[in-house]
Amino acid sequence: MDKNKQLFQQSQLIIPGGVNSPVRAFGSVGGTPIFFKRAKGSRLWDENDKEYIDYINSWGPMILGHAHPEVIKVVQEVAESSLSFGAPTERELIMAETIVRLVPSIEQVRLVSSGTEATMSAIRVARGYTSRDKIVKFEGCYHGHADALLVKAGSGALTFGQPSSAGVPHDVAKDTLTLPYNNTQALKDLFDRLGDEIACVIIEPVVGNMNLIVPEQEFLETLRQLCTHHGAVLIFDEVMTGFRVALGGAQELFNVLPDMTTLGKVIGGGLPVGAFGGKKEIMSQLAPLGPVYQAGTLSGNPVAVAAGLKTLELIQQENFHVQLADMTNKLVTGLTQIAREQGKEFTARNVGGMFGLYFSATAPNSFDEVMASDRESFNKFFHLMLEQGIYFGPSAFEAGFVSAAHTEHDIQQTLNAAQVAFEAL
Ligand SMILES: *Cc1c(COP(=O)(O)O)cnc(C)c1O
Repeated sequence: MDKNKQLFQQSQLIIPGGVNSPVRAFGSVGGTPIFFKRAKGSRLWDENDKEYIDYINSWGPMILGHAHPEVIKVVQEVAESSLSFGAPTERELIMAETIVRLVPSIEQVRLVSSGTEATMSAIRVARGYTSRDKIVKFEGCYHGHADALLVKAGSGALTFGQPSSAGVPHDVAKDTLTLPYNNTQALKDLFDRLGDEIACVIIEPVVGNMNLIVPEQEFLETLRQLCTHHGAVLIFDEVMTGFRVALGGAQELFNVLPDMTTLGKVIGGGLPVGAFGGKKEIMSQLAPLGPVYQAGTLSGNPVAVAAGLKTLELIQQENFHVQLADMTNKLVTGLTQIAREQGKEFTARNVGGMFGLYFSATAPNSFDEVMASDRESFNKFFHLMLEQGIYFGPSAFEAGFVSAAHTEHDIQQTLNAAQVAFEAL
């Protein structure tokens, strides 16, 4: 009996769609989602005891690989001294100091428990600070599932062909303006028309929620200039890119500094932590200092913060990000080469430890270009790889992730499987 199938059938009876987050249901690629029971380093084991090499890494957080001994140890130690106080702890201060030191633009920061909370709160602060309502986002970018941000959103919202969600009031969505990514002219036109009514612009500085899209330097720089000129708050949503594309995130890599930054994923090392921070002048709008309310019973949870802090400590080791990028580069170069040898229309690219696989002749630059890629080939490729124990994201619209636990051997095994998969396509 296939235990994955059995568990999925039972789950579907009492959990909507059988999953607690939509992309997990394999709706885009078809088939039965895998139920996991154990992981170590770069490897996962499912309920049938089948082994996989993991290129999802819990969608980014497991940057050190699974069950890193030092992270597990500190979690166990801290858990002994209470799971939660609902009061401040010293580790939260150390976490804040670490974030301020590592992320170039952050002067003050507050912890929350998810990326969604971080972006939702950052937008509230930006609106409070500017006394303006309109926000701008980009087509295909995903910023969590807060109402105002579920307009032309990426990730699961894309996978299921719903650019926006039911249940979002028109009155909320009407203040969210969307623009095409990497389109500098459209950006200028919008600011010409409405610049002085815009509270903030939120952007994934490298997009990981409509596959991987790399920003054009000029696009980011123009965005920075326009926001400064019109008094709009620029928010980099670095929930995915933070501590991953570089130690200081995409803002360090591209040398463009936002006014506010949102963080998640890596910052919790696999436990629920998010954060939003930025200029002191803006962050001091928050309660209890200022008029913008924001709170959380489990915000700064001691166990979650301990896991995150240990993760941040370990990724500061010399050359960590160089090696991570190097390993990721070996994967994408290898895949591209195999596809070329076999005459398949395929490209792949990476930014640090994040990568994109595209069934198109060139790497896409925008939402429209992503939508034009060959989704059917991706789905076939996904299943051919999965059968051989290679676990990529179950959708053509998700970026992939390599961890520090991935070895040359893992990459080679993946490329061997890809050789077979491309041949079968
Ligand atoms: C994952 C993600 C979010 C949402 O974070 P959750 O912890 O899932 O709420 C927001 N923004 C970006 C860029 C993300 O990748």
